[in-house]
Amino acid sequence: MYKLLHNFQLKKFNTFAIPATAKFYLSIESLSDLTDALINNPQLINEQRLVLGSGSNLLFLKDYDGIIIHPQIQGIQRLKENDFTVEVEVGAGVKWDNFVEWSVVNELYGIENLSLIPGNTGAVPVQNIGAYGVEASSVVEWVTGIDLITMNQRIIHRFDCEFGYRISLFKEKLKENFIVTSVNFRLSKKPGYNLQYEGLESKVREFGEVNLVNVRQAIIKIRTSKLPDPSVYGNAGSFFKNPVVSDDAADTLKRLYPDIPVYSLGSGFSKLAAGWMIEKAGWKGHSFGNAAIHDKQALVIINKGNATGKEIFSLSEMVAENILQKFNIRLEREVQVVG
Ligand SMILES: Cc1cc2nc3c(=O)[nH]c(=O)nc-3n(C[C@H](O)[C@H](O)[C@H](O)COP(=O)(O)OP(=O)(O)OC[C@H]3O[C@@H](n4cnc5c(N)ncnc54)[C@H](O)[C@@H]3O)c2cc1C
Repeated sequence: MYKLLHNFQLKKFNTFAIPATAKFYLSIESLSDLTDALINNPQLINEQRLVLGSGSNLLFLKDYDGIIIHPQIQGIQRLKENDFTVEVEVGAGVKWDNFVEWSVVNELYGIENLSLIPGNTGAVPVQNIGAYGVEASSVVEWVTGIDLITMNQRIIHRFDCEFGYRISLFKEKLKENFIVTSVNFRLSKKPGYNLQYEGLESKVREFGEVNLVNVRQAIIKIRTSKLPDPSVYGNAGSFFKNPVVSDDAADTLKRLYPDIPVYSLGSGFSKLAAGWMIEKAGWKGHSFGNAAIHDKQALVIINKGNATGKEIFSLSEMVAENILQKFNIRLEREVQVVG
């Protein structure tokens, strides 16, 4: 069954808790819901559109003058398996962390480091979510969805997803023209942990032996100690991406700031910690109206109460401008700005 609403309040549907409204809001539970809704309401076809998951990576600057499509497709299905791996199909509307928990309970390896990332599974390949040394692209097999230009179902294999650092085909070439309805993952039956991230292994050992449950617990513990809870202070996690620069540029910065963290990516490129630069530039805890740079993690911008999307955006622009002046590094937003 689809649900179509007019002048829909989005405050509870974005983790920044911005009180924007959408001209139309369409919630769907299947592909046929979408086609039914469009056949019954042909005026919707020409509206600009935005696909919504949990709104944990979106910043609304104003009311949305178009249709917000909200896929609520549920289900976690174990498909083909062999002695080593299992293929699992997950509906776009499944809360990502529920699937991670399911994988841990079922002793399947591969996504435990991605515990507690907010959002729905449909957004996972769009964003190519990542944390603690693991990216979704390492486990996605294929993505099923609806091509909104042809209204046909399409299956896109992992090699065609154009995955990169928080980027994919869905976020670029297919932006606003493709609704992910389900994602197929390949998880491992054999233990294989990724504990390279600094301090992770010792945190796991605080819980006991290295096993799936303890890795998940350790990740949850680290995350909750560092990141603000969106139900307390609206936020969307990291506001900026960690900049990727040439090794030469990284060396220059290292000479000027010997304590700057630099992670070599090979092939002549290095990743810098945006949070470190923002903190070094003195922004930690700094407010602008009702928006502020989080006082524990400088990469996160929070809504202190009644911030507008514009206040949050203005603060982010001030930070980015200052980082450009100070470090000659152009920060790129990870959060998607709407409006
Ligand atoms: C406290 C906090 C911590 C976070 N930590 C991390 C982290 O460690 N790593 C990380 O990678 N991210 C992190 N994030 C960001 C966010 O959780 C992820 O980007 C997440 O995948 C967004 O999911 P969502 O369902 O909320 O998507 P939304 O914010 O609703 O949408 C994000 C984008 O995906 C598109 N989209 C959503 N669903 C679909 C669909 N079914 N079909 C097509 N397009 C779709 C939207 O149009 C939009 O462009 C964090 C956010 C918060 C609030």
